[in-house]
Amino acid sequence: MMNLILVGPPGSGKGTQAKMLVDKYNIPQISTGDILREAVKEGSPLGKQAKDFMDKGALLPDEVVIGIIEERLKKPDCKGGFILDGFPRTVAQAEALGAILDKMDLKIEYLINIEIDDEELLKRLTGRRTCRKCGKGYHVVFDPPKNKDVCNKCKGELYQRDDDKEDTIKSRLKVYHQQTAPVVEFYQKKNTSRAINGLGKIDEVFQRITDIIERG
Ligand code: AMP
Repeated sequence: MMNLILVGPPGSGKGTQAKMLVDKYNIPQISTGDILREAVKEGSPLGKQAKDFMDKGALLPDEVVIGIIEERLKKPDCKGGFILDGFPRTVAQAEALGAILDKMDLKIEYLINIEIDDEELLKRLTGRRTCRKCGKGYHVVFDPPKNKDVCNKCKGELYQRDDDKEDTIKSRLKVYHQQTAPVVEFYQKKNTSRAINGLGKIDEVFQRITDIIERG
C-alpha cells in the first residue's frame, strides 16, 4: 500500500516519473488538473465553474477541489495506493486531505519532491521547440533536429511556444515555488516529505524515487 504525493516544478520530468510509477506499482495517478480539464471539455457544471480560473492560471476554491478528491479516493482502484499529482496545492487542502484519509483509515506515506534549480529548468524549458506542422517536440541541446529549425519528420518549421519563453517560464516557476513551499513544509513537519535530486537520466531519477518508496 503506497499513498504518495508527487511534486516537482515544470520541466522536472514529474509527468514522466508519475507514468513510470503507475506502470511499476499499478496504482492510479490522480491529477486534479487532468480531472478539471476533462470537465471543461465535457462542459459539465464543474467544468463551467473551473474554466475561468484555469484560463487565468488561478487556483480553484479549496472546497471544490477537496470535493473532487474525496469522491475520487473512494473509488476501488485507490485501494492499493495512489499518486496525487497537483493536489494538495494549499495548506487548507493538505489539512482536508488528512481528514478525508483519517476517515478512511489511510495516510500519506510520502510527499516526494523532485528538486532542480531554476537555472537548469530554464535551460531545459527555453530550449524546447515544436513543429508547426506535425507538433513533434525537440530540444536545442538535448534532442536537436538534424537541420536547425526544421522538423526531421515532416520538414515543417520549428517554433518556440509562448509558454516556453523565458519571462513566462520565470513567472511559472515563481508561482510554483510560492504555492509549493507551504505544502512541502506541512509534510516536513509530519516527517513524510522526501526531496530527491531531479538531475540526471530519467531512469536515475526514477531509481531515487523507488528507493524512497521501498526503503523510506
Ligand atoms: P495543473 O495541470 O495541475 O497545472 O492544473 C491546471 C489548473 O487547474 C490550475 O492552474 C488550477 O486552475 C486548477 N487546479 C488544479 N489542481 C488544483 C488544486 N489542487 N487547487 C486549485 N486549483 C487547481
